[in-house]
Amino acid sequence: MSLSIIGRSIAESVTLKLNETAAILRAKGEPVIHLGIGEPKSKAPLDAIIAAASLLNTGEIRYTPADGIPALKQAIIRYTGDMYGRIVSPENVIASGGAKQAIMVALQAILNPQDEVIFPAPYWVSYPEMVKLCGAIPVPVLPEDGSFYPRLLDIERACGSNTKAIIINSPNNPTGVVYSEQFISEIVDFCEKRSIYLIMDDIYHRLIFNGRKPVNSYNFLKGSVEDSKLILINGVSKQYAMTGFRIGWAVANKKLITCMTNIQSHQTSGPSVVLQAAAVGAINGIQSGVTNLCITLQNNTNVMMDQLNSFEGVRATRPDGTFYCFVDFSHYYKDSSKLAYFLLDKVRVITVPGKEFGLDGYLRLSTCGSIKDITQGIERIKWALDPNSPNELFIGDRKLVRDWL
Ligand code: PMP
Repeated sequence: MSLSIIGRSIAESVTLKLNETAAILRAKGEPVIHLGIGEPKSKAPLDAIIAAASLLNTGEIRYTPADGIPALKQAIIRYTGDMYGRIVSPENVIASGGAKQAIMVALQAILNPQDEVIFPAPYWVSYPEMVKLCGAIPVPVLPEDGSFYPRLLDIERACGSNTKAIIINSPNNPTGVVYSEQFISEIVDFCEKRSIYLIMDDIYHRLIFNGRKPVNSYNFLKGSVEDSKLILINGVSKQYAMTGFRIGWAVANKKLITCMTNIQSHQTSGPSVVLQAAAVGAINGIQSGVTNLCITLQNNTNVMMDQLNSFEGVRATRPDGTFYCFVDFSHYYKDSSKLAYFLLDKVRVITVPGKEFGLDGYLRLSTCGSIKDITQGIERIKWALDPNSPNELFIGDRKLVRDWL
């Protein structure tokens, strides 16, 4: 069988694969704890459900403009005004099939083969693959000081004549950290001066703890959105617990949005009108769900950090937001894939190997589950790895005996 060079270069989505594995094991009655999950457990907002249901009830479910229905664009414009203090026009906005498609069409609109795209590591698993899908070259940059906080210096060093874009994701998947205001201001300034596209992936920007405010990259723009190469990405998946609705968006200059729209029109003709209606409901509706989700996640994160701090040999940086902790397990295992499969095999805990995010020796642990999932999950991991823990562990009425330490 002959497959394309690009097709062959693309790895499968490990996180989606893990969800599949968890579902198969659960269906077999296995007591799986899923600490790999990348979606909130809360229900979608009622306003979203009502909006989608009323449209479905009309029975008239049609094509929409490829860049989104006017009502969704208006909702995104209002959101951008409220959250970022900028009034943009409908021509500055495109709604896509999740933030994922918004990023993908943005990359397709700006990249030529062999162009380079820089992003700090650890990074969201899809960035390198999306860049490769465009025939371009991903350039991950690991902060030299070993922290999760990139410095302009690190990025500047990686930047060359082929650099076309930089992707910044803060609050960050997988580390949960929020980059400093100083770093964001420096990167906006740097990209403006070098005329490089800056993709700000703000998908987690409302899921920040302790009342902290997200950093607004628009505050540092010298000119207008129209004169800028800044591409703002957001969506309903995380903040409204609407991952399955697949609605995200981009805000950028009109020329770029037109190009993205042309691409999207031939790819998918735009997202489903039913799901766009749901997104309008969520964005324009009651926002208490976002606050509640944030409180739950902050509480879950505190519980996970307490558990991890009492776990000898592991190191965890406290997340400032999101629903992830990125934890250094290299004291026990250097190969994070082997460790993740070991934990799945021995104690039925699903984690995501740090290797997938560009940093081996780490595991990404999710705080989306219940407190019970978090405490029992960490307890099981500790039992599997720590030679000082007792030799036996009960999972329900199943007795596990450790014969590997
Ligand atoms: N960016 C980041 C950093 C993410 O973690 C995700 C989802 N895992 C996305 C974008 C894509 O979100 P969506 O569900 O809206 O496609």
